[in-house]
Amino acid sequence: MQIRDGFVDAVGNTPLIKLKKASEETGCTILGKAEFLNPGGSVKDRAAKHIILDAEERGDLEPGGLIVEGTAGNTGIGLALVADARGYRTLIIIPETQSQEKKDMLRLCGAQLRENPALPYKNPDNYVHVAKRTAEELAKTEKHGVLYANQWDNLSNRNAHIRSTGPEIWEQTNGTVDGFICAVGTGGTLAGTAEYLRSKKKDIVIGLADPMGAAMFNYFTKGELSSDGTSITEGIGQGRITGNLEGLAVDEPFQVPDTEWLPVCFDLLKHEGLLMGGSAALNVMGAIKLAKKMGPGHTIVTVLCDGGQRYQSKMFNPEFLKSKDLPVPDWL
Ligand code: PMP
Repeated sequence: MQIRDGFVDAVGNTPLIKLKKASEETGCTILGKAEFLNPGGSVKDRAAKHIILDAEERGDLEPGGLIVEGTAGNTGIGLALVADARGYRTLIIIPETQSQEKKDMLRLCGAQLRENPALPYKNPDNYVHVAKRTAEELAKTEKHGVLYANQWDNLSNRNAHIRSTGPEIWEQTNGTVDGFICAVGTGGTLAGTAEYLRSKKKDIVIGLADPMGAAMFNYFTKGELSSDGTSITEGIGQGRITGNLEGLAVDEPFQVPDTEWLPVCFDLLKHEGLLMGGSAALNVMGAIKLAKKMGPGHTIVTVLCDGGQRYQSKMFNPEFLKSKDLPVPDWL
């Protein structure tokens, strides 16, 4: 029987979708892992699931316990839904610049939401530091205990991809995958999937797709964590080596400006029926760059992280695009 046992069991085992235009353009087979089909709507359901299950196994969560996290939104949605399904509560600290849709969704899922000014990581009031401090403070008074999920440095995140995303891609491609590429938020998806795939195929090519001017590209090309870019993408563009990124080696780093991935995003919708978020489109553009570098005949997998509904007020909104000096397609 093909029955999944509740929300947690419904996370993962997402299909691989062949991306027609990207494959034709490059002579490669470019496949997108359909993470937007996870029950909470994003790749971060995997991290949320494993963070909570691992904490339960360690005895760090008791019924009615409070899970605290800083998140661009998707991890929070995953955590809130797993918490609903397993009897916990969630308190989410989110940078105020994230899309209204994700904030509304978090409240709908029962999370208590605190918006935080969007400050750089080195500022002590950056949302990640605020989340940690809030968890420590509340631990003194919460009757049923507090779990600080800490997706950045908690290795349950990377392990989620070593245990699930990597093996799924390997099996779904019958081991024919030649390259894997995606962007980095915490780095759990890229580092975990790369670790598993490399354990199966030593010479698999691992690519990084970074928003233009973000720090990871500079790190993997020059060893410097400097950044000088602004991108409308959300949830990606990491500025430090998180615990989950430690030890990751990248063979092919690329940077992708908003003006390159936006047309890909609109094409995915208009020509393939895929309504994708910005990081998914940026990943597909990264896969195209990797395919062109590797040459025709290769199989390259990337990640379709979440769906476009979460950004309707942003990159699917002409006013927003105009305010960022980005081109508006005729049909929008
Ligand atoms: N895309 C989106 C939309 C995200 O929310 C995130 C996570 N913040 C990522 C990509 C990156 O995933 P990871 O944290 O595994 O690097």
